[in-house]
Amino acid sequence: MNILIINSGSSSIKYQLLEMPTAQVICAGMIERIGSTESISTFKSQEYKIEKIYEITNHKEGLERITALLLDSEKGVIESTEDIDAIGHRVVHGGSAFTETTLIDNEVKNKIKMFSPLAPLHNPANLVGIEMAEKLFKSAKQIAVFDTAFHGTVPEKAKKYAIPTELYNEKGIQAYGFHGTSHKYVSEKATEYLGNNYAKLISIHLGNGCSITAIKNGVSIDHSMGFAPSNGLIMGTRSGDIDHSIIFYMVNTLGYSLDEVNEILNKKSGMLGLTGFNDLRDIESEASKGNTNCVLALKMNAYRIKKYIGAYTAAMNGLDAIIFTAGIGENSSLMRQLVCKEMDYFNLHLDNAKNELRSSTIREINTKDSEVKILVIPTNEELEIAKQVFNLLN
Ligand code: AMP
Repeated sequence: MNILIINSGSSSIKYQLLEMPTAQVICAGMIERIGSTESISTFKSQEYKIEKIYEITNHKEGLERITALLLDSEKGVIESTEDIDAIGHRVVHGGSAFTETTLIDNEVKNKIKMFSPLAPLHNPANLVGIEMAEKLFKSAKQIAVFDTAFHGTVPEKAKKYAIPTELYNEKGIQAYGFHGTSHKYVSEKATEYLGNNYAKLISIHLGNGCSITAIKNGVSIDHSMGFAPSNGLIMGTRSGDIDHSIIFYMVNTLGYSLDEVNEILNKKSGMLGLTGFNDLRDIESEASKGNTNCVLALKMNAYRIKKYIGAYTAAMNGLDAIIFTAGIGENSSLMRQLVCKEMDYFNLHLDNAKNELRSSTIREINTKDSEVKILVIPTNEELEIAKQVFNLLN
């Protein structure tokens, strides 16, 4: 079965074509900077690697370009759009309506639209991706896989905010949780590796967006992101946890508009706001040269993660393993070292030599006498989406 995965972001479309159930990647690619005169299209199959710059004004044109590449008579990978059996769409916000992978129909599209105000950067782009794919791949089944779905198991005591109850009951204000596809994928890999006895896991997804999930007996029981993907850990450009009074102070006393505050908290804060850099590689390099802002930002980042590990260990009444994943979690030995430092109380001990090793597969980086396992697991959201699509249709 040929399953095309589409991850349509605010200015990009990532895609991957997989053969399932073998999980063979037929091709993968991305269009970045949609809306600019210099949009970058990358495409990689077993035989070809193509990078081109075009003017791509919107997602519709982007998906048309991708379809043309897939069908290209020389370098393409399919002969007809009918060769695609199903399309799995990553949808960021499924609200409380979707806790399962879902076949898309008009009602589903209406609900995704309804949840757009909750994820204004993501859901509208996801919807455009769905509508275009329906037009271009008429015979393919269209399926939505929601980032929020894995957190549908979080109990009320953890997902409800202490604000008037009608806002929860009638307006849907609650913590939803995100990065669910990634947390599900890596926690299942951890369980495959460690066995079911390791039932209390903490999954730490550190990429451009960062989040942390407590997983007990295979299900999410608490998560650091909340109503929107902005709460919790310090991210590339997002602040994570802040006191909401700061928003009112900035608006009422300092004279910022609400839109400006929103822009600052989501796009100009986090590691970027602290250091002037948003890529952790630059921050680590500057820190090694003595840049004090960068040194402090790294410490703050690790400290926030440690606090959540402490909180989730208490929530689960114990801890069997922590998992590092995504761009930073998989690649930054420094961030892992800062997080795992002085965690003796938890019986969590990092093996410094193992921490420096690199590998594209799962690896255990704790010392032999560490009671808590420390794992680095490469995430694969596309494969997880393909698995869920395949399982739904078979
Ligand atoms: P992701 O969103 O999972 O693609 O992660 C992207 C982020 O991972 C980048 O912004 C970098 O900050 C970080 N990253 C990638 N490679 C490395 C590396 N070798 N060392 C430190 N950080 C890295």
